Amino acid sequence: MPNSQVDEDLKQMHALMAMLQNLDVGLVILDRNYNIQLWNSFMESHSGMYPHEVRDRLLFEEFPEINEDWFRHKAESVFLLNNRAFTTWEQRPYLFKFKNYRPITGKAEFMYQNSTLIPLASANGVVERIGIIIYDVTDQAINRVELKEANDQLKRLSRTDKLTGLYNRGYWEECLNKEFKRCKRTGNTSTLLMFDIDHFKKVNDQYGHPTGDEVIKVTANILQETMRETDIAGRYGGEEYVVILINCSAEQAYHFAERLRTKVEQTVVEHQGFKVNYTVSLGICELADTIVNHSQWIELADQGLYRSKESGRNTATIYTRN
Ligand code: GH3
Ligand code: MG
Ligand code: MG
Repeated sequence: MPNSQVDEDLKQMHALMAMLQNLDVGLVILDRNYNIQLWNSFMESHSGMYPHEVRDRLLFEEFPEINEDWFRHKAESVFLLNNRAFTTWEQRPYLFKFKNYRPITGKAEFMYQNSTLIPLASANGVVERIGIIIYDVTDQAINRVELKEANDQLKRLSRTDKLTGLYNRGYWEECLNKEFKRCKRTGNTSTLLMFDIDHFKKVNDQYGHPTGDEVIKVTANILQETMRETDIAGRYGGEEYVVILINCSAEQAYHFAERLRTKVEQTVVEHQGFKVNYTVSLGICELADTIVNHSQWIELADQGLYRSKESGRNTATIYTRN
């Protein structure tokens, strides 16, 4: 090769190296034994380690945050099959644990990364080295995480009754429908309990609407304190409540209803200088083969409630056909 050609080749190589050095992505080259061969300035500035410090060092020793088994498994297929391999931040938030310095995305403690492993074959086609390219995707990840948080919150709000924090009627009915189907499929039984505050109009008339609201809230709290975590409670209407007692018979539900009824009876709501005593009436319906859909299940629990009202209120009734 003439000297001028060698000079030209060297110049081109220097230009290429300079370009690689200044890319806004991380570039690492590993040899067949996972020793670091090349480390560009992106890697240097984010890790705080100079190329000469990491050169010929074993990747897993210098960066213990990298799961060795997982990485070797991935990289071996790159070495053996001459294929690329990818990892996204959704699968693993990062490969190298770097601090996140970006001002806009200061919320993230570390840099989210996508990474690509590329085979670097020599002239004979054998892959003797692999390259790791690290992309900083912190902005993208944070946007996605924030969007998901906003969506989750929106979802929570759209399911929740504002006054009581219980599920609202629409979402609760969806839950009941699901539970109805689950019971039909599995042969489990659950029981629906519905209750309504007695003479609530009088509460509003006597003490005013804000005190009425307070009574509605306190009642929801009593319900939440009394039920199990797996039970599903909702505000069905103004001062009507519903709760699905999961895997629970009518008899067990009756005991629950009595506990709830007694607690309410013993509660005094104090609000704006008023002291309010009140009671509730309850209706109970265990799911049976004869019930064809969740709406009918509600109707039958409501019939139980109606009987409690008819028989003088402050009582619980299990729905029976007669
Ligand atoms: P009953 O014992 O037969 O249930 O008598 P009741 O007076 O409770 O009758 P009903 O259930 O029909 O009355 C419900 C009342 O609840 C009527 C309505 O003005 C009031 N109400 C509905 N929603 C709210 C609310 O969010 N806040 C307040 N303060 N009152 C409400
Ligand atoms: Mg009422
Ligand atoms: Mg009512």
